[in-house]
Amino acid sequence: MPDFRPNPLSRIPAVDKILVALAKEGGLPPLPQPLVTDLVRREIAEMRGRVMAGGDGVGEFEETVAYLRGRIEVLYRSRIHPVINGTGVCIHTNLGRSPLAPAVVEAVSRVGRFYNNLEFDLESGERGKRGGFLERCLALLCEAPAATISNNCAAALILILKHLANGERNEVIISRGELVEIGGGFRVPEIMAVSGAKLVEVGATNKTSLEDYRRAINPRTGMILKVHRSNFYIEGFIGEPATEELVALGEEHGLPVVEDLGSGAMVATDRLAPIPHEPTAAEVLKRGVDLVCVSGDKLCGGPQAGIIAGRADLVAGIKKEPFFRALRCDKLILTAMQETALAYLEADVGGARPDLPLLAMLAASVEDDLRPRGEALVARLGSSDTFDAGLVATIARCGGGTMPKAEIPSLALEIRPAKMKVPRLAGRLRRLPLPVIGYVDGDAFRLDLRTIFPEQDEALAAALLAVW
Ligand SMILES: *Cc1c(COP(=O)(O)O)cnc(C)c1O
Repeated sequence: MPDFRPNPLSRIPAVDKILVALAKEGGLPPLPQPLVTDLVRREIAEMRGRVMAGGDGVGEFEETVAYLRGRIEVLYRSRIHPVINGTGVCIHTNLGRSPLAPAVVEAVSRVGRFYNNLEFDLESGERGKRGGFLERCLALLCEAPAATISNNCAAALILILKHLANGERNEVIISRGELVEIGGGFRVPEIMAVSGAKLVEVGATNKTSLEDYRRAINPRTGMILKVHRSNFYIEGFIGEPATEELVALGEEHGLPVVEDLGSGAMVATDRLAPIPHEPTAAEVLKRGVDLVCVSGDKLCGGPQAGIIAGRADLVAGIKKEPFFRALRCDKLILTAMQETALAYLEADVGGARPDLPLLAMLAASVEDDLRPRGEALVARLGSSDTFDAGLVATIARCGGGTMPKAEIPSLALEIRPAKMKVPRLAGRLRRLPLPVIGYVDGDAFRLDLRTIFPEQDEALAAALLAVW
């Protein structure tokens, strides 16, 4: 007996047919055809899988085409492109951490576009030292005998561990209060494991004494590590030895003391904004530690990188590690960091604030800088029966896992939509060609002006007006 039941798979449209229909309708985002074809193929294969598993039926052809158009738009929006950050989190790891200065980006563009002297000595005409000029700048900035740079601070720590904790002496002593997760998969114990170092935990979460460190020292000890609590704080019954005491203990036993500082402040944060003082690399080195490592794209305000500064012999040794080659920065990052370091060194001479967007953002005054912009925005938006816009005092954050206690007084544009739920408004704004990212507070949507660039105000107003 022939089987006359309709085969549900036969209702799944052919890839070619869908592509023709999509092209005929037009208005697709400007994605290269191979990406579109690949997406349609994957979606159709998934659809087939669902049907074979006895799942969802297949809708009408037009429905399938509309659905796929939506998927193509989602794919297009997922490419890296600029957004407006209205979250009030200055170093937002999900939004690319520190924005770069225009002069930095211009230098990157010139170096990237043409040939350059990355590893070429213009004096001798022979092969030259990669990053030599930058290393000098960084050493000066960190007030260190020597400095170098790697892919990021996690890489910097791996390099330090590889160099100072290996073979017979691979034990690293660290306080239980510092076995932290920095976020995005950076856990100190895991970094240790990756680098082949053996973690020796001492003390308790809240208290570690100098004696705890001393008792853990043995012939297999390679180094003492201090990890700065950059993204959390502990309060109450707490205690730890001063860095100077750890340094003295290290000296007594011929052991290097290293501090993973992370946050990377290069100038006094308390002079920028009404926030606490975050230790700088130079300050930590003054306390006597042998090496310090910091991130380039947190409070330093530069590109993603890890700066290692301190004893010249150790820095030279780290640069000879085979891993150094694998974790080194490319010409674009080296250029971006070079220009960032130059901005600091130039400001140092005049005693001014380095000309970097992150520092300007932290230093912006609510009354002098943010309020006039906010008032102009509210006036530009006008009033309507679809929304209500006003200004509200807020707290902005440093972010990026730095200074969790720092509360920066700020100002936000607060929008109360009358005919739309707030999460829906937030979603519409996220899906604009220039996405606008804010946060929901009860029945209001907020855009913190501190993290929005003044030159984005007009685009922001236009976007808001377009959405309602
Ligand atoms: C952020 C941070 C890191 C990781 O830095 P990346 O540059 O993101 O790799 C390491 N240690 C500390 C203490 C940090 O705050």
